[in-house]
Amino acid sequence: IHRNGLLEFSMPKLKMADIGGLENLKKWLEKRAASWSERARQYNIPAPRGVLITGLPGCGKSLTAKTVSTSWNVPLLRLDMGAVFSGLVGSSERNMRNVIQTAEAMAPCVLWIDEIEKAFSGVGSSGDSGTATRLFGTFLTWMQEKEKFVFVVATANNIDFLPPELMRKGRFDEIFFVDLPTSAERTIILQIHLKKRLNNATVLGNTVVDDTFLQALVEKTEGFTGAELEQVVVAGLFEAFSENRAITLDDFLTAIDNTVPLVVTQAEKIKAIREWA
Ligand code: ATP
Repeated sequence: IHRNGLLEFSMPKLKMADIGGLENLKKWLEKRAASWSERARQYNIPAPRGVLITGLPGCGKSLTAKTVSTSWNVPLLRLDMGAVFSGLVGSSERNMRNVIQTAEAMAPCVLWIDEIEKAFSGVGSSGDSGTATRLFGTFLTWMQEKEKFVFVVATANNIDFLPPELMRKGRFDEIFFVDLPTSAERTIILQIHLKKRLNNATVLGNTVVDDTFLQALVEKTEGFTGAELEQVVVAGLFEAFSENRAITLDDFLTAIDNTVPLVVTQAEKIKAIREWA
């Protein structure tokens, strides 16, 4: 990882297979990967501009941004939007132009704008001194006119207060909403994290991670985010580690009991809507 104040450069090593669920998003990205090739030029297909991914924290938005760069084999530039906003008059615009120039110089690349709502939610509101609106204007024009292949991945926990212009066609190619994982998705996410960490016989002892084992965990984790499922796996391992013994199913079940999902209220709301529908 290399940092220049506004941008953080990296070459993440994450595969699409490291993301459980988010099938539509993954399929879309895989299909779009080919559209910046020479072959696509022959068909006059424009290079993809970017995606906006919104949804609950801990459900894989950041993970997706990193994965795009690995699977397209291009560098990832993470933009710290907070750093763009500078106290000095004129500096914010200079910072924004600097970011755009750097990204274009590094093309092809992925420009990941994390928590974009923090930068642009106030655009046009009475509290905005004009800086956010000007930066937003610069950004939108660039999104529409950019010729270099700089694929923008913007992630947001909440898009309710983002300016509608950002959501209009032609800015982002697609907007994806990332929801809590379903039970089938939880199975895959748990499998991913168990496989990553349970790779040694000492830790496993006689425990076999089969369908029954997974099912027991999946049933008890309704409303858990991907990040919380990962946390359950780590907490279960810690349980066994601190007692210096092989892991058992009970270690994970205890870890689940000790986890209060952050979005429990949303989960209940979503469940109620689904039951009603
Ligand atoms: P935030 O807004 O808090 O950054 P996020 O949606 O970007 O949330 P991530 O940072 O991608 O969430 O998730 C945190 C971690 O949780 C990931 O690094 C990953 O290990 C795990 N995780 C989350 N979602 C998934 C998923 N769908 N599949 C596999 N692992 C996941």
